[in-house]
Amino acid sequence: MDNDIKSIGSFLKERLDRFEYTPCEYEYGVVKSCADEIVHIDGLSRCRYGELLEFGGCEYGIALDLRENAVDAVLLNKKSSVVPGVIVSQTGRVAEVCVGESLLGRIIDPIGRPLDGLGEIQSGEYRALESHAPTIMQRTGVKTPLETGILAIDSMIPIGRGQRELIIGDRQTGKTAIALSAIINQKKGDVICVYCAIGQKASTIAQVTAKLRDAGALDNTVIVASTADDCASMQYLTPYSGCAIAEKFMYDGKDVLIVYDDLSKHAMAYRAMSLLLRRPSGREAYPGDVFYLHSRLLERAARLSYEYGGGSITALPIIETMSGDISAYIPTNVISITDGQIYLESELFNAGIRPAVNVGLSVSRVGRAAQHNAMKDVSGNLRLVLAQYRDTAVFARFGADIDESTALLLRRGERLTELLKQSQNKVFSLSRQVAVLLSYAGNFFDGVDVKDVIETRDRLLETLELQINDTMRSIDNSGELSENDRNLLMRAVTAFFEGQSNAEH
Ligand code: ATP
Ligand code: MG
Repeated sequence: MDNDIKSIGSFLKERLDRFEYTPCEYEYGVVKSCADEIVHIDGLSRCRYGELLEFGGCEYGIALDLRENAVDAVLLNKKSSVVPGVIVSQTGRVAEVCVGESLLGRIIDPIGRPLDGLGEIQSGEYRALESHAPTIMQRTGVKTPLETGILAIDSMIPIGRGQRELIIGDRQTGKTAIALSAIINQKKGDVICVYCAIGQKASTIAQVTAKLRDAGALDNTVIVASTADDCASMQYLTPYSGCAIAEKFMYDGKDVLIVYDDLSKHAMAYRAMSLLLRRPSGREAYPGDVFYLHSRLLERAARLSYEYGGGSITALPIIETMSGDISAYIPTNVISITDGQIYLESELFNAGIRPAVNVGLSVSRVGRAAQHNAMKDVSGNLRLVLAQYRDTAVFARFGADIDESTALLLRRGERLTELLKQSQNKVFSLSRQVAVLLSYAGNFFDGVDVKDVIETRDRLLETLELQINDTMRSIDNSGELSENDRNLLMRAVTAFFEGQSNAEH
């Protein structure tokens, strides 16, 4: 027994004597070839996936393919001076972006460099672009509404804080306009917004910025932008960077709205990178992990439970379809990841129905759990009325004989369609939306000419703001429609329409 212990002791001692500590140094590699922002590097056997690499001490890239003694990386600069033979060193860090309050009102690129010419960003805090999504235990249900200020959406496709709602449609159907309205509607509230422009024209980004600034919503917003001119790697990083910025606010207990405009261009940028990296391509030449590209991004949107601060990230990804084909590869992927979609149609848009939301194909899987009680009370059967109207309208076009009840359905449907039209950047508060829907439900608009509906609606709202401002504010603040408020509102609406018909006579 003693002998055994001695032998074990001497064995351990001998091993300890022989133990040599080799400090873990970062290795160097050499650029073997470089083309189209893709660099093949010899060496760097200890490099990690996604690690930031330094080229010749002045340029950066990200390691994306690891082999036994070689690494393939993408450069973060389009015009780069990297040539074969340049020394590459590991940094031991992953790509990071500055985060925090100092970013509000600023426009930055995905790695945190300012693009608005307002000087360096004074933020001491950084966050890795990629991080794990909150676990199930950290999350809680989506119950608080996130108002977009768009009547058609808030009444029929309600979005909750922490939800992921896809905006999908062909080009030029008002996708960005809806996302911008949602951002503008947050300017007076407690929701911080992040707008990620992925591979867009610089002029479009300038227009978006101007719109937000004019509406007074820029101070509450961070814009993360990569232009179509930027290299694919920058476009690829943009949404992750925006998400990292949003996450900081979320973990601080705040509510954030993030818009990814748009993920089709993001998938294309990733496809370009993957093809250049010679990864095997699959359907539509996208690489096999293109689903993971978006799922890991959108999973980071969440509503945290009270113990974790109660913050949230609501994501509005945008997808552009080709000729309304929502069954293409990327649209179906993203539809399956998100909690619902707002489907925009060119036919509706061209027919002047703007926002061009196809209510039949749009859903919100969170549903009525994320709606104010006041809105729940008044928006009951709108979807049904609209669906019935659209079905019947098709027959009515053939000049078929129409009975009285069908004529009424058409009459009401036409007016509801008009009421749901909303010009760009014009957002409606909860009380205004409730007032419109209540007047519609009370059949007040039935006597108004279709072409006058929008004008009458706007005049009604102005009158209500003047006459019963207290009631309107009380609905906005409480989210409830009390019996008393309802009576006051109905009285004011009745008086308005009576005055209207008197004026006509
Ligand atoms: P793209 O595919 O180019 O990104 P998009 O789908 O994002 O386009 P927008 O840029 O939002 O579409 O809008 C297209 C055009 O339609 C713009 O000129 C915009 O001013 C107009 N528009 C959008 N929404 C409305 C609206 N509700 N009322 C009137 N005009 C609108
Ligand atoms: Mg757009």
